[in-house]
Amino acid sequence: MPDSMGRGGGVRANTALVGYDEAVSRYDPLIGLETHVELGTTTKLFCGCPATFGGEPNTHVCPVCLGLPGSLPVPSRAAIEYTIRIGLALNCSIAEWCRFARKNYFYPDMPKNFQISQYDEPLCTNGWLDVVLDESEAGADGSPRTFRVGIERVHLEEDTGKSQHMGGATGRIHGADYSLVDYNRAGIALVEIVTKPVEGTGPLAPVVAHAYVTELRDLLRSLGVSDVRMEEGSLRCDVNTSLSPSGSLRWGTRTETKNVNSLRSVERAVHYEIERQAAVLDAGERVVQETRHFHEDSGITTPGRSKEEAQDYRYFPEPDLVPLAPPRDWVEQIRATLPELPSARRARLQQAWGITAAEMTNIRNAGALDLVEQTIAAGATQADARKWWLNELARRANDAGAELATLPITPSDVAAIAALVSSGALNDRLARQVIEGVLAGEGTPDEVVAARGLAVVSDDTALNAAVDEAIAAHPDVADKIRGGKVAAAANLVGVVMKATRGQADASRVRELILARLTDS
Ligand SMILES: [Zn+2]
Repeated sequence: MPDSMGRGGGVRANTALVGYDEAVSRYDPLIGLETHVELGTTTKLFCGCPATFGGEPNTHVCPVCLGLPGSLPVPSRAAIEYTIRIGLALNCSIAEWCRFARKNYFYPDMPKNFQISQYDEPLCTNGWLDVVLDESEAGADGSPRTFRVGIERVHLEEDTGKSQHMGGATGRIHGADYSLVDYNRAGIALVEIVTKPVEGTGPLAPVVAHAYVTELRDLLRSLGVSDVRMEEGSLRCDVNTSLSPSGSLRWGTRTETKNVNSLRSVERAVHYEIERQAAVLDAGERVVQETRHFHEDSGITTPGRSKEEAQDYRYFPEPDLVPLAPPRDWVEQIRATLPELPSARRARLQQAWGITAAEMTNIRNAGALDLVEQTIAAGATQADARKWWLNELARRANDAGAELATLPITPSDVAAIAALVSSGALNDRLARQVIEGVLAGEGTPDEVVAARGLAVVSDDTALNAAVDEAIAAHPDVADKIRGGKVAAAANLVGVVMKATRGQADASRVRELILARLTDS
């Protein structure tokens, strides 16, 4: 539910914090995550309007998603199928019979003033997802730690529209002159994935939250059910956090931090709430059950509205829709088409490539798994594929503030460049210039090599002239080599490389220098 109209329960002007290590030494954190995923179906959940992101305001609307009198919803088979796919991939049971429910509340971006959702009869229940914690959190034997997060439910509902508050400085409703409403998003199919309370994380609660959302995002992407873009809001996360005194058997009062919109922010939001709630409890006060907003810039949370209880919504079975009873053979057909899931794929590739868990974590964190796999498929060695994507290209993506996968260079380009290096036609320095040319749109690696004249010079005639010049310019170094100090040849190689702007074949240059100055 939208919540920019806040009521400030428990506002503190200067929020006191307890240092993180101290907080988790005296309190046990308990977290829970509710993730909303916009499905990538062609149409909205209950009408034929396009479910595409953006568009001119109020152009993707019809009587059904505007809630006009007399219109009736018809569920999208694709949305139900996608939800079942998600449920099966999360090891859930799929209901043999369930219903949609009407969730009643007034808000201007919800045209019907109720949301069709699922309440006590969700489509998928009682599953789990194993998440791998980053290498720094490795177990005693150095292997990555795996943490099993229970899944309470996966249900299907419709999204709301969007309000825009105009004329104020903050974009919030407070101080705005007027508000506009865009119903393009209203009625888009939304899946809500709710974890069970995640106990036993101890100090790792923020890390587990981060790892869970990361794994869930990868899983959803592999299922092809959503583009899972947090920045466009197609994956949105609410994080519940509570503390109880260490060893206590009672759960503390939780807060719900809304719409945390990056993986890193999920971790920071839990971290901050632990520090804040520890200070509240230390002062002998009660944690207020409320929703809170996370602020990306400062890393803090501030109070939103006091949390509604389920009874506030007056849920009842949706009278405009018949119950949903997915046939078992359909569920089994969907199960049979599930792809290899990301954790299994990572384990398989790690083994096939002979790399460590930490190296696989680096590839994954760089968003390079598909790219590395495709580069290897295009003929590169795993070492070359990792080297180019994780170093030179990751640096350039970082400089450009872009995702690695959006760089204008293909895995086959990278494989071609690696092949030119291993054949001796390019050295690493020239290869970096080829990458620069490809990224600048100068063509394929071969075209860039030709246009920029970047081939390694290994032709003896050209190299001998440069070697002679280097010897003539540094007679003292030449004398040392003549006197038996062969290691000094490296100095002259450097001079030749500089004179040829890095294009000489360094090992051939060394041979030519030694042939000139020694008996070898
Ligand atoms: Zn519509």
